[in-house]
Amino acid sequence: MRTAYVRAKAAVPYSPRFESAEFATSVAELGALADAPLALLPELAFVGRSNAGKSTAINLLTQRRRLAFSSKTPGRTQMLNFFAVQDDAPPAQRQACAYVVDLPGYGFAKTDAQTRARWDALVGGYLYERQSLRGVVLVMDARRPCLPADEELIAWICRRDDLEHFRLHMLLSKADQVGTMEGRAALALAERRAEELPMPTSVQLFSALDRRGLDELRETAAQILEEGFDDEDEDTGKPEGHAAAPVAGGPEDGDAGSGTPGPGARAPGPGKMGR
Ligand code: GDP
Repeated sequence: MRTAYVRAKAAVPYSPRFESAEFATSVAELGALADAPLALLPELAFVGRSNAGKSTAINLLTQRRRLAFSSKTPGRTQMLNFFAVQDDAPPAQRQACAYVVDLPGYGFAKTDAQTRARWDALVGGYLYERQSLRGVVLVMDARRPCLPADEELIAWICRRDDLEHFRLHMLLSKADQVGTMEGRAALALAERRAEELPMPTSVQLFSALDRRGLDELRETAAQILEEGFDDEDEDTGKPEGHAAAPVAGGPEDGDAGSGTPGPGARAPGPGKMGR
């Protein structure tokens, strides 16, 4: 089902002000996205294995101590949680310019088949189909980057048809827990993987404990979202890629999972950009 978007925006001269982030809505099923009260704005999703440090990274980026932990409150852990971010226009003119989306964690060893299927339909489907999604920050523990569960997630992204305009950012978290050499090795491993991927992919070390890499994360996140406004569609004046999808690009027939092939259906092509 198609739904009119709340407010469309043309190219903006302003940048996202992450510290303005406010909880907007949660969505438990992909099919419900079309009816969610979300404006047609670029989205940046944070994903990661459970305990990788995703919530801590979002909280640090937004300078809100418990923002993303609201995604961990009972009932919300298996939902897509949207946080609206305002731009940095003069105060009277500020408006929402983007969403940060906190996705359910994955990689629990004892996940049952039903939970797994649900995660695939919701998170896999969102990563694969969501047109408003401009990029993903993949949070991985610097001591264990690029595990099979992370690769499954990457495989979902690799099947998008807009990869040239899509960004993946690998955030190697808890860098304070590794020495210099181990940190460099983790970075090198992730960079090698990034070079193989078909979408522009960047990699950085990050520590919430000593704030290492926070500026780089903030700049990269802003850049990904601003690129969402880069091209205007000539016919509609709306940002390219949004014109065909009124709200946000859930499946038009509202059938979230059934038409969605599993990860690996299209193998990643040769790499285009390492960092
Ligand atoms: P999530 O499940 O991916 O959202 O992970 P959390 O953000 O809840 O973090 C999991 C655990 O790792 C918590 O105990 C955090 O305090 C800890 N943690 C997160 N980031 C860092 C970091 O940069 N350094 C260290 N040493 N611990 C961290």
